[in-house]
Amino acid sequence: MKTEIISVGTELLLGDILNTNSKYISTKMAELGLPLYRHTTVGDNFERLCKAIITGLQDNDILILTGGLGPTPDDITKEACAKVLDLPLLLNDESYERLKEYFADRNSVENNMKQSVFPEGTIILPNRFGTADGGIIEAEGKIIIILPGPPKEMEPMFEEYVYPYLSKFSVQKFFSRFYRITGMGEWQMYSIIKDLIDTQTNPTVAPYAKKEALVIKLTAAAKDLESAEVLFEPYEKAFKERFKENYLGYDQRPLEERIGEIVIEKDLSISTAESITGGMVASTLINYPGISSVISESYVVYSDDAKKEILGVDKDILEKHSAVSPEVLKEMLYGIRRITKSDICLATTGYAGPNDDKVGLAYYGYLINDELYINGRVFKGLRNEIRQRVTRELLNALLKRLLDKDI
Ligand code: AMP
Ligand code: MG
Repeated sequence: MKTEIISVGTELLLGDILNTNSKYISTKMAELGLPLYRHTTVGDNFERLCKAIITGLQDNDILILTGGLGPTPDDITKEACAKVLDLPLLLNDESYERLKEYFADRNSVENNMKQSVFPEGTIILPNRFGTADGGIIEAEGKIIIILPGPPKEMEPMFEEYVYPYLSKFSVQKFFSRFYRITGMGEWQMYSIIKDLIDTQTNPTVAPYAKKEALVIKLTAAAKDLESAEVLFEPYEKAFKERFKENYLGYDQRPLEERIGEIVIEKDLSISTAESITGGMVASTLINYPGISSVISESYVVYSDDAKKEILGVDKDILEKHSAVSPEVLKEMLYGIRRITKSDICLATTGYAGPNDDKVGLAYYGYLINDELYINGRVFKGLRNEIRQRVTRELLNALLKRLLDKDI
C-alpha cells in the first residue's frame, strides 16, 4: 500500500505556518508500517489541487489530505475530490445534525452548511473539536482520507478513526532504535559502517548527525518489538566491536539527563572551566533538574589573562604552546581542580572562528581524581556549531567514562 500526504493551504506555501500535520501523520504511518512515498503541499487553488490528487492517485493507493475543509470559498478539498472521482456532492444528514447542534442559530448553520457536504459514499469522521468533519472515500480501488487542517482537530480524528482504519492494511510495523556514537566526525562514522549501509535490507541503517549526538538509526520492519530486537542484535554487536570506546548505546535520553542521574546518585561534584564553549557545558548540564546539588562552580575563562589569573595557568606554557593546546588544557584542568576540589573537572579550549586561521581546532577533557583525559581535533562547522560539537564531545566522553567504571 503506497501512501501520500497532500497538505492543502496557501498559508503553508507562504511559510506562515509550519506543516506539523505532515510530520504527525508521517510518524503514524511509520508506526503502522505503511510506506509513505511522497509529501505534497498545494495552495488553495482548485486546478492545482485536482492535479495533485490525480497524480497522487496514479502513483499511490492511499492519499491523506489535510486542510481546506472550512466553510469559506477558499476551502475546496472536498470539491476537488468530487471532481477528480466524478462523484456528486451531497449533504450528509448525520454531519448536518451535528452542525445544527453545534450552532444554535439558523444563520450560522446555513453559513457553515458546506462543512456537511461530502462526495457521495464518503464515510464520515466526526470532528469532536470543531465543525469540519473529515471523511474516507473508497473509490476506484483507491482510498482518499480527508482531514481538517487545525492540528487539535486533525490529530484526535486521526487517532480515533484513521489509525484503526489503516491498521487493516498494515502487515508489519516499523521499529527504530538510535545508537549514539562519539569521538569522531560524521564521515569517519560513516566509513566504519559503510559495508553495513551498502548491504542493508532489514533493518535499514542510516547514519546522521543530530544536534546533540552522532547517531546511527536502525529501522526494522517486524511484527512486534521482540522480532525487531532479533534483527537489531547483530548490528548492535558490530557497532560495539567497531566503535569500541566511542559507542554509547541506544539510550535516547539527553546526555545531561544520563550524566545527571549518575553524578547525583554517586553524589559527585562537577566544575567547569570553559574557553571556547563559553559556559555551554555548564549550561547543558544545568538543563537537568536536580543537578544543582552536584554542580559546584563554573568559570568562563576566555582570555589568556583569565586563564592565568583565575586558573593559574603557567605563563610559560601558555606562551610556548598557545592557549589552544593540550598542554594548556591540562593546566586548566588542574587549575579548576585546585580552586574547586571537585570530583569531576571539565575544561575546553579552541578556536571557534570565523576569523582565526586555525578555526575549529579545539581540545576538551576531564580530570577525575588523577585520571586525566584530553582529546582534540579540528571541528567543522559554523562558530556555534563548533561550540556545540565540542560541548557534545566532552559530555559524551564524560558519560562514557561514567558508564565504564566507578569513580
Ligand atoms: P483549513 O482547514 O485549510 O482552513 O486550515 C485551518 C487552519 O489549520 C490553518 O489556518 C492552520 O492554522 C491549520 N493548518 C492547516 N494545515 C495545516 C498543516 N498542514 N499543519 C499545521 N497546521 C495546519
Ligand atoms: Mg485552508
